[in-house]
Formats: sequence, structure tokens, C-alpha cells
Amino acid sequence: MSTLSVRNLTVTLGAAVVVDGVSFDLEPGQRLGIIGESGSGKTVTALAVMGLLAPSLRATGQVLIGDRDLLAMTERQRCEVRGGTMAMVFQEPMTALNPTMRVGRQIAEAIRAHQRCTRAEARQRATELLARVEFTDPARQARSYPHQLSGGQRQRVMLAMAIACDPAVILADEPTTALDVTVQAQMLALMARLVTEENAALVLISHDLAVVSGMCERVMVMYGGHVVESGNTAQVLAAPRHPYTAGLLATSAAVSLDSDRTRLEVPYIPGQVPAVGSFPAGCPFRSRCDRATAECAVMPPIEAVGDHLAACHHPLGGPASPQIPASPQIPADLAESGKE
Ligand code: SF4
Repeated sequence: MSTLSVRNLTVTLGAAVVVDGVSFDLEPGQRLGIIGESGSGKTVTALAVMGLLAPSLRATGQVLIGDRDLLAMTERQRCEVRGGTMAMVFQEPMTALNPTMRVGRQIAEAIRAHQRCTRAEARQRATELLARVEFTDPARQARSYPHQLSGGQRQRVMLAMAIACDPAVILADEPTTALDVTVQAQMLALMARLVTEENAALVLISHDLAVVSGMCERVMVMYGGHVVESGNTAQVLAAPRHPYTAGLLATSAAVSLDSDRTRLEVPYIPGQVPAVGSFPAGCPFRSRCDRATAECAVMPPIEAVGDHLAACHHPLGGPASPQIPASPQIPADLAESGKE
């Protein structure tokens, strides 16, 4: 039985389908990266898995934690799972932390919500967790309010809260996007180490292919609420079969000057992600795809193409010409530990 098994997860907003039939399984220690542009459905997928959707959104399908279906639970039962068996790290910790409470107390309260222990024991454990996420003076820094910490320190507090109850699954939604590049590197290395130590399954949501390439052995590409390509990260990124994945790879190339050195050349995918409810019928990428034909008015199934899965009537046939830059952010030993 998988640690996390998502089955045909579908999220609707009224008549609009926001996420359509997402399925994946994760075993202990496995890492799955979900990539796509803003509006592709990756964050809504994560929120649905955590049971944190806004009331206007409705989720169907199954989110199985062991043999328990999160979508069939009461809100009280879901609260017991969140922060205990499953934990989430958000992009902006300032919105997730209570600005009026010292960070040590916030971690201690998260521990006491899920484990039987005294206040003193929870406080002691909070200090130990802050040391584990590399605070140099954890006893003192536990008494800080969130605004007294840097962005990177606040995100490390979120990581401490995430691992406080030995979660089986950690979902991280763009956890380093709000940080500057050098702090990103430290955060990714720390997250990779903690996930390995906890033997937790990781779902990492990112728009950054280099980050997913360095951290995750599996990748799922989403567009228009659909999974359009998935498989082993190295195989997908070496030879993408879906035009959207190839476009994402092309946009990861560095911004450069043109041959006259007068104009910046910024790689991009033509067109924009349509608003929710405005995707074309059939393949959602149809309005931006230069390979589209009349056949693409029918949504293609996701099926084996080469060595992984893709949902495309006219898949690409060979290795990618653009290469994603090697991740500058993750030390090689930690990056290697995330690969098959
Ligand atoms: S199904 Fe058609 S429109 Fe969609 S990505 Fe493939 S070729 Fe392009």
C-alpha cells in the first residue's frame, strides 16, 4: 500500500473544471515534482490533497493516506491528519505563521495538537527542531516573533513545523520562490536532507525545472488542470514528448542578447495560460500549440510514449534540443540522493 495514493482527483469551481483526473502514488522516501505555469492547476492539486481548498471549490476522487480517504473524512479528522501524517510548506511563511506569537511557541503548539506531551516537553522539542533546521542559537531564536526573522529563517521555522510530528508526506508549494538565490540553495539542501532523514514522501511544486531536476526522481507536468506528461525526471527532461514540456524547457534557457547585442532575447511560450474555465475544448494546450490539428479538439489520453507518459495526439519524437541548466542550487551529493 502506498504512503499517498491520489486517484482521479478532480476539482471544480461551479461548472468549471480546475483540476481534471490527477492520479499518482508515492512510496516512503519518493519525491515527485509538479511543474507548470501559474494557472496550470498544480497548487490547487496540492491544496486538494491537503484538504485545504476554499469552500467554493469541490474535490472528488480519492486521496488515500494508507487506507484512509482524506476526501471522505470530516473536517475534524482532516485536521488530525494535517500537521501530523501530512505537512505542508507554503511559499510565503509570513502568511502561514502567526505574527503575534513567538515561533518556538507556534512549533510547540503544533506538536501538542498531534502528540501527547506537556508544555515543557513541547517547548524542548521545538528548540531541538530549530537546531535541526540549522538555527545557531535555537533557545534564543525560539523566543523571536516571525517579523524578527529573515525570510530564510521563517521558511526554516515552517520546515521545523512540517517535520515536528514525523510526517509521512510533505507537500512543499514553491518553498524557495520568495527567497534570494543563495538562501534558496541552503533551503533546498536542508529540505533534501530532512526529507531523507524522515524517509517522508515529498511533493514539490515548482515552476523551476532546475529545482525539480535536482530534487525529484519523478516529475508530473500540468497544464490546464491536466497531467500532460509524467515519468522519471531525467527521462522526461531529456526527451519531452509533449510540446508544452518542451516549451517549458526552452523557457528555462538563459536570457541573452541577440547577435547585434542590442536586444534581450527572452525565451517564452507564445500565448498565455487561459483563465480557469476558458481553456479550449479538447487538448487545453491547443490554442498555443504549433502542432495542433483538428484531432486535438478531442482530449488525448495520457499513455506511454517512449519511456514515459504523455497526453498528446502528435507527440515529439526525439531528444530535446534545449537543455535545462544544471541546478546551481543543490549540492551534488544531495541532488544525487534524490535520483533513482
Ligand atoms: S494534443 Fe495537439 S494541441 Fe495538444 S499538445 Fe498535442 S499536438 Fe498540441
